[in-house]
Amino acid sequence: MTGNKVNLLGLDRNELEAFFASLGEKRFRAEQVMKWIYHEGVTDIDAMTNLSKSLREQLCSMAEIRPPDVVLDQGSQDGSRKWLIRLDNGNCVETVFIPDEGRGTLCVSSQIGCPLDCSFCATAQQGFNRNLNVAEIIGQVWQAHWLLGGGRNGDRLLTNVVLMGMGEPLLNFNNVVRATNLMQDDLAFGLSKRRVTLSTAGVVPALYRLREVSDVSLAVSLHAPNDELRNELVPLNRKYPIAQMLEACRHYIAGKLQRSITWEYVMLDGVNDSVAHALALVKLLKGIPSKVNLIPFNPFPNATYRRSSPATIDRFRNVLLAGGMTTITRKTRGDDINAACGQLAGQVQNRRRRGPRAVQSMEQVR
Ligand code: SAH
Repeated sequence: MTGNKVNLLGLDRNELEAFFASLGEKRFRAEQVMKWIYHEGVTDIDAMTNLSKSLREQLCSMAEIRPPDVVLDQGSQDGSRKWLIRLDNGNCVETVFIPDEGRGTLCVSSQIGCPLDCSFCATAQQGFNRNLNVAEIIGQVWQAHWLLGGGRNGDRLLTNVVLMGMGEPLLNFNNVVRATNLMQDDLAFGLSKRRVTLSTAGVVPALYRLREVSDVSLAVSLHAPNDELRNELVPLNRKYPIAQMLEACRHYIAGKLQRSITWEYVMLDGVNDSVAHALALVKLLKGIPSKVNLIPFNPFPNATYRRSSPATIDRFRNVLLAGGMTTITRKTRGDDINAACGQLAGQVQNRRRRGPRAVQSMEQVR
């Protein structure tokens, strides 16, 4: 932290306009500054040459552009990259870039740790410290975009963002909505709504609110076709059981053209991967425009699960396909640097608050 300076990274167009209005400046200053920050990668206010010298001086005294620090940059054999991003008080989160044919997806964190306590996820073992603010969320995209070269010659590498890193994005509702809107703003990264995906374990009231304020694509961590099993894997299900969650998801896409829900389903050997589970899944999702993403379980230290065999995953997928469901098996990427789904750990200090009670208290603060 540098004194009490306002961090202009993370203010959206309206907030920046209000900021300049409060200085007696024209609103278009917001546009100029956003272009410097997001299109030119400039963090030095003095380099913003289309602002008058006196305005630059005034800004320097009260504002700054402060992205979070990247403290470790690891490359995987498969071309994925993982960055460790340092926040305050020794806390760190991880951000992962996954290049694939014709696109590059950035997996962004929304919380330091996670309070949800899913039994098969490494982040859960870390406990929870706090929500990320807007600058820390958009700052991950900013850092990755510029570390990847910024795409100056039209060869932009970063084309998609998924909120699938550490944390439950819908428990950090306001900051996540503001950050995703900023990702979609032409004055920032201009990503289309199809290219920004929020993944949630299913915080039902927040799903209803999300529809009102955002147009991101939705992925939901389902992982089980019945409440009994899902209660065990995703404890949040005890608070918001499957039927309620599905209803909220139907509502989210209702009336939107060509939108479907992506269901994430981690393949755990002998736990949720039988033909009976697959048949139950087909029945459960009948009538909801859906894509199913099967995720082979990624191991981490002290994990009590094993990955389903390739043959079991294929058998499961074939049942879904035969049931008319679009299904893909997610490729495991970046596992040599612990960057695959569910392997992100970061550094979480003062671990506290986990489980359904933590969720309740977080919902109350919102
Ligand atoms: N909290 C949000 C965002 C996390 S996204 C959510 O639950 O959706 C990360 C995805 O990877 C989720 O679908 C999560 O359930 C899944 N995942 C977690 N641990 C995993 C593991 N060890 N192997 C494979 N997938 C895992």
